[in-house]
Amino acid sequence: MGNNRNYEELYRNFYRDLYNNSVPNYANQELKYYINSRKKRLEMLNLKEEHDIDSDNSGIHSSNNKFSEIVGISKYNSKNYYSCFNRTKKYINEGKVIYKKKERIYFFETIYDILDKPNKSNFLYNCPNCGAPSELKELEADGCKYCGTKFIMDDLFPRVSNYYTMLDMNVSLEDRKKFMIKCGFLSGIVLTTWFYFSNNESIPNIVAKIISIIIVFAITYLVGTFIGAMLSFNNMLLKTIKSISINSDIISINQSSKDEINKTLKQYNLNLEYEYFESKVLSLIRNILLNDDRNSLPQNNIKDLDKRFDNLVDIVYRQVMKLKDISVIDNKIVINMYVYLNNDYFIDGKIVNKNDCLLVTMRHNNDYKIDTEFLLSAVNCKNCGGSFDATHQKKCPYCGTPYDLEKDDWVVDNIQY
Ligand SMILES: [Zn+2]
Ligand SMILES: [Zn+2]
Repeated sequence: MGNNRNYEELYRNFYRDLYNNSVPNYANQELKYYINSRKKRLEMLNLKEEHDIDSDNSGIHSSNNKFSEIVGISKYNSKNYYSCFNRTKKYINEGKVIYKKKERIYFFETIYDILDKPNKSNFLYNCPNCGAPSELKELEADGCKYCGTKFIMDDLFPRVSNYYTMLDMNVSLEDRKKFMIKCGFLSGIVLTTWFYFSNNESIPNIVAKIISIIIVFAITYLVGTFIGAMLSFNNMLLKTIKSISINSDIISINQSSKDEINKTLKQYNLNLEYEYFESKVLSLIRNILLNDDRNSLPQNNIKDLDKRFDNLVDIVYRQVMKLKDISVIDNKIVINMYVYLNNDYFIDGKIVNKNDCLLVTMRHNNDYKIDTEFLLSAVNCKNCGGSFDATHQKKCPYCGTPYDLEKDDWVVDNIQY
């Protein structure tokens, strides 16, 4: 990839646009389609959202998509970028703020760019305007053969192909303070109550009683916060307490499940990096769940989707995926995966925030290799070879052959609670 600073700027512009409620220009066609379908869901439910984000002074990090370097034949190069910042999310219904929440999140983006020099790029690319295929260099020189729109390369590359948000599960200073105050109140109330009942008769008048209670509470409160501060230095302990209260199903299974997934995928000849897999699963889930026209999606093969997903308005990833099982039938690889999410639902005029663990069943035809830079907006028909945009159509527009996504990528057979 070229100049890293440009990609970091693109990264930042992307999430700023997104949180300003506009569809980021840098999103590719598939991602724009997703962002718009989520917007439609909110409109349907008569909801608006607003975001405040603080400046990301923690810096932007990046990791290579290692797989693409091994293959070496790919047309694009992609990289994952992320940073951590505070986000305050508000939902507005009929002019009233009905929900507000501040949380610390990691914001991930996958950015891809073209490897070749633009004037050498003679591979087919689907016109972002009408979807018809042209050679990439033609799009720039003469414009699209069908609709005539001209594109300069900067309009087409680089692009963001995916994004997701992940809750920061580490203990923040704010959490530490809250924890200390809780410890103070708890010890204050318990010890003062004990003091009152054990010394009730030995204190003669009401004034002395009130004064002694206040003094005892003040002392025990201070002692309690001090103990809380000592405890919070031990990060592990506080993490466990936090896990029990908020995320009882997640206690440090992150790394072990990562290793297990990596090991298992390799056994089945799937040379996929965990990071690729993580962002793929998340994009499959939200593309299907946050779309009211989901039957037009080639990745959706779900028969009866739980009706509760119709009220879903946002998905935040909770850092953990766990492999349930993996099997191969007729060389079709079927993966059952637990995905831990923090979801917002809009139910009876209220936002309900819930920790969900979803079981996702996904399938790939293992006769065909997976290209980690596969784009749904530029697929090739296996029958006539025609190139088309399959973002929301299941048939080849030239010969009518049903498009079989499981040969190129993943198809989802089920998502359930
Ligand atoms: Zn066109
Ligand atoms: Zn065709």
